[in-house]
Amino acid sequence: GVHGVRLDSGAGTPAGPIALVLQDVTEARRVEAVRRDFVANVGHELKTPVGALALLAEAIEGAADDPEAVQRFAARIAHEADRLGRLVRELIDLSRLQGGEPLPELVPVDVDRVLGEAVDRTRTAARAKELEIVVGGQPGLVVRGVEGQLVTAVTNLLANAVAYSTGKSRVAVAARARSGFAEIAVTDSGIGIPRADRHRVFERFYRVDQSRASSTGGTGLGLAIVKHVASNHGGSVTVWSEEGLGSTFTLRIPLAGPAENPAAESSASA
Ligand code: ADP
Repeated sequence: GVHGVRLDSGAGTPAGPIALVLQDVTEARRVEAVRRDFVANVGHELKTPVGALALLAEAIEGAADDPEAVQRFAARIAHEADRLGRLVRELIDLSRLQGGEPLPELVPVDVDRVLGEAVDRTRTAARAKELEIVVGGQPGLVVRGVEGQLVTAVTNLLANAVAYSTGKSRVAVAARARSGFAEIAVTDSGIGIPRADRHRVFERFYRVDQSRASSTGGTGLGLAIVKHVASNHGGSVTVWSEEGLGSTFTLRIPLAGPAENPAAESSASA
């Protein structure tokens, strides 16, 4: 990348080309450092469940004559394997989304279907916490996109809304048309995100509180995936949050043409 290069020392002087080369080297170093950090992070994230599995295997061996303990350890092994499986799946998703593969063709995608599928995928987790997921907003919107990616993105937002909610509250997901985009908002009345962390939550492996996140089984990759889905679609994702009050994540995805969006027409200029 040569962005950020300024050739204001004037054409004809060697400063231009040399600056360009230096900039390229710096950029290459930066990319390399990011890659190294990423690999180190992945290694660290894998170490925890693998270590837990090894300990649990040992514990099971030592508890052979206590069937109840064996049951308990087996359940924890299943839990750790689950976590490991999710981490690997999310890593694969992320590497695909990060441009390892060309984006599949963008086609008209029904937003109601995306929301419905994402709600289906989070229903079990919501029920376990006695949370209600409410779907609202404007029906009938159609965006240009890749359905699977959009379902993944909304599912990740809903899963977080559920994971970081407390008590018997509600999680809402609603879509509306605004300035050529479908805005899909996922709102919870959960713990919220401290101001200092708010701009970092979309980074890979970033978690507000390690201990809190590990108890919810989070990988720290969910929002990085959402961000990539948004940018692959020419859209964006933003967060509003207040500690102790809750959070709203808003995903904006370009609407398909007006012909596909009769429902959006009335409010398109709102
Ligand atoms: P994780 O798998 O840990 O949930 P994410 O990338 O999805 O990873 O989110 C990153 C961090 O942002 C989470 O660990 C959590 O601290 C914070 N976060 C995400 N969504 C919410 C939410 N709805 N309410 C409160 N905190 C959230």
